[in-house]
Amino acid sequence: PRLANQIAAGEVVERPSSVIKELLENSLDAGATRVDIDVEQGGVKLLRVRDDGCGIDESDLPLALSRHATSKIMDLDDLERVATLGFRGEALASVASVSRLMLTSCAEAADQAWQVETEGRDMNPRVQPAAHPRGTTVEVRDLFFNTPARRKFLRTEKTEFGHLEEVVKRLALSRFDVAFNLRHNGRSVLSLRPAHTEQEAQRRVASICGPAFVEQSLTIDHERSGLRLWGWVGLPTFSRSQADLQYFCVNGRLIRDKLVAHAVRQAYRDVLFNGRHPTFVLFLEVDPAVVDVNVHPTKHEVRFRDGRMVHDFLFSTLYRALADQRPDSQGP
Ligand code: ADP
Ligand code: MG
Repeated sequence: PRLANQIAAGEVVERPSSVIKELLENSLDAGATRVDIDVEQGGVKLLRVRDDGCGIDESDLPLALSRHATSKIMDLDDLERVATLGFRGEALASVASVSRLMLTSCAEAADQAWQVETEGRDMNPRVQPAAHPRGTTVEVRDLFFNTPARRKFLRTEKTEFGHLEEVVKRLALSRFDVAFNLRHNGRSVLSLRPAHTEQEAQRRVASICGPAFVEQSLTIDHERSGLRLWGWVGLPTFSRSQADLQYFCVNGRLIRDKLVAHAVRQAYRDVLFNGRHPTFVLFLEVDPAVVDVNVHPTKHEVRFRDGRMVHDFLFSTLYRALADQRPDSQGP
């Protein structure tokens, strides 16, 4: 099973950012309202995620580190629904097989916290009492210490942290209700309080995408027959030199999708931003009764049953909003 874990680790654990993604998804699955992330040396030396979620029972602690132990699928119905972000039950086992991992947790109903510790392939998790408030802390040290070939593929500390920060930002954009704190080498990088009002949401987007984006963007909020699109679309005055600023969320889940990208690009191009790369943070909420959405559990792909309808809705909503904004427009 250890070898199997390491093989699986190759698929799930590519670099520190992939570890953070799995840990954060677990925290969100556990109903956390706050996650604190501590990173040292780009995540290679230390990755620590602490949450205030439901926690793990003492008897389930060693199980959480064993492969295919997921508490998230009870029957086939669940498999089809895939309500939670994780479901394969192999992320923690994979991470544990290539690092020094410590899992500490205090379950909702427990009066005491417990801890297990593993070191690479030598998995011999003994459960010990510990001090921890309700919730879970996963500490991953010395990633790939026992797999030098994989360690060789890691880039500079700055690059690795950049990937990791992007993962945190993406999740923070999909969950406005959760507080996120990210520290690198003891320095606070992101400090996001829960955003419940429109103003707080705007502040979070400014923290993540930069204040210039929010200032030079158009706010969208439009609803029609079971579909709602809201968020921010960058105006032509906003130019972005670095990576793309394109975030699209469907029913609380960040996705990359050709159909969506096409609709946005076309609206942009048809109005006036000729040749410009669109920038946006958009949220699409669809009534499952109207449009069937199938999100692939691990890839960030989505399949709309009525793709044409979604495309038309996105295009026409953005087209109208952008056209109204055009300097030569006569107004609505
Ligand atoms: P999966 O998320 O696919 O179930 P993981 O390997 O990521 O598999 O996690 C294994 C199990 O450990 C989860 O099913 C869950 O029961 C438990 N677990 C992991 N992280 C947390 C957490 N932060 N809070 C509560 N339970 C957790
Ligand atoms: Mg998981």
